Amino acid sequence: MKSLHEMGVAELGQGLRAKAFSATELTQHLLARVTGSSQLGAFLHVDADGALAHAAEADRRLAAGEASPLLGIPLAHKDIYVTADMPTTAGSKILAGYRSPFDATVVARLNAAGTFSLGKLNCDEFAMGSANENSAFGPAHNPWDRSRVPGGSSGGSAVAVAARLVPATTGTDTGGSIRQPASFTGITGIKPTYGVCSRYGMIAFASSLDQAGPMARSAEDCALLLSAMSGFDERDATSINQPPQDFHAQMLAPREGATPAQPLKGLRIGLPREFFPAALSADVNSAVRQGLAELEKLGATLVEVSLPRTELAIPVYYIIAPAEASSNLSRFDGVKFGHRAANYTDLLDMYKKTRAEGFGPEVKRRIMIGTYVLSHGYYDAYYLQAQKLRRMIADDFQQAFQHCDVIAGPVAPSVAWKAGEGAEDPVKAYLADIFTLPGSLAGLPGMSVPVGFGEAGMPVGLQLIGNYFKEGQLLHTAHALQQATDWHTRAPNGI
Ligand code: GLN
Repeated sequence: MKSLHEMGVAELGQGLRAKAFSATELTQHLLARVTGSSQLGAFLHVDADGALAHAAEADRRLAAGEASPLLGIPLAHKDIYVTADMPTTAGSKILAGYRSPFDATVVARLNAAGTFSLGKLNCDEFAMGSANENSAFGPAHNPWDRSRVPGGSSGGSAVAVAARLVPATTGTDTGGSIRQPASFTGITGIKPTYGVCSRYGMIAFASSLDQAGPMARSAEDCALLLSAMSGFDERDATSINQPPQDFHAQMLAPREGATPAQPLKGLRIGLPREFFPAALSADVNSAVRQGLAELEKLGATLVEVSLPRTELAIPVYYIIAPAEASSNLSRFDGVKFGHRAANYTDLLDMYKKTRAEGFGPEVKRRIMIGTYVLSHGYYDAYYLQAQKLRRMIADDFQQAFQHCDVIAGPVAPSVAWKAGEGAEDPVKAYLADIFTLPGSLAGLPGMSVPVGFGEAGMPVGLQLIGNYFKEGQLLHTAHALQQATDWHTRAPNGI
């Protein structure tokens, strides 16, 4: 029999229901792995006692014959979701010691589906970053090569899955933070359409972009989690009011005209020419082409499309996201949450010292940029222009979707880079977001699916972008690929 950490969510669920092992055995096994892998920096907090108590409860329910698909599955959550039973930091010193009085909706829903959490996962401070090196509590390391970054901002979430510490995790994606770390660590992740998952209790970075999503080892496991996480929430004004969805059933549903050998027959995959520029690393290009060739074998046809404003997505995002962040982060003032400076002369001095001490350099940089672009005289020149371009970027996707069903390309221009390489030059890191930002600005669903290996044996992800509410189609496409190939089953050496 496979070892318990080698199984994904679907397989573990079957084993639990068949009583092949108990949730308690599974939890003990994974907790031992978490303890033994602390040098990876994936976890910021581990709650062994709490997890074992929940596992015992799941075992009682399983013994009583309950059979829901996620009952007894141990997870861990990005530390940007507030949780009542564990501390929440958002990777920031300003929230050190903070305890939320409630659970984020996504966490509450996953708990209600029978999962429980081993702990909280490392991330870039307030989800700002692409390498997990902006965490106030130290970096996370890529298990494929510990001298490289795992991507970010959901770096801890990606590492925990890739290193087989938990079968699946939650992440959040504002401009790529689920897709890019999934690509860098060889796992599968999906960011649904903006509004599909509730943002309630997900500490806000850029509210018009932030979305929750699952990170796991397969499209199937992502589908199981997303079904539980998503759905209307009256406590989030941007939550979409639509009936609960069974993404697993959507993933399995055969396409019209499909055959067993050609499950993707008739699917038109659009390749934006701007997603394959000369500057794309050759190794990423060849892995992505290898994945596309497999999709063709499964019956899909490849068509060229254009997203002419792809390059503009970078300046547009790096105006809008900091603008919203500067507003959202004004609540961390030393009065309501977390850290407060010890010595100050008056109220203004207390605000200043608290924020100077509590926020890291990247967060301060973004607050300054955001405040600048929203200030009188610059609003029209920057923020308003960015909003107009955002609309045009979204329209470009609709043009492209006239000619294809799914858009595909790389997730990132290179494989995971060496630790420390992005630190000196933040603009270099911003430029590497080029392929994930357009979909985020448009609010479209996007996935990263492993399609092989590049430089130094590092994993490469294929990005799939769907039209609004086409998560089922993305998951179906990724699942078909994963049924025919085994890239997603590969684990780093020694794991
Ligand atoms: N890398 C992007 C940024 O730094 C995206 C982060 C995210 O999606 N949370 O803002």
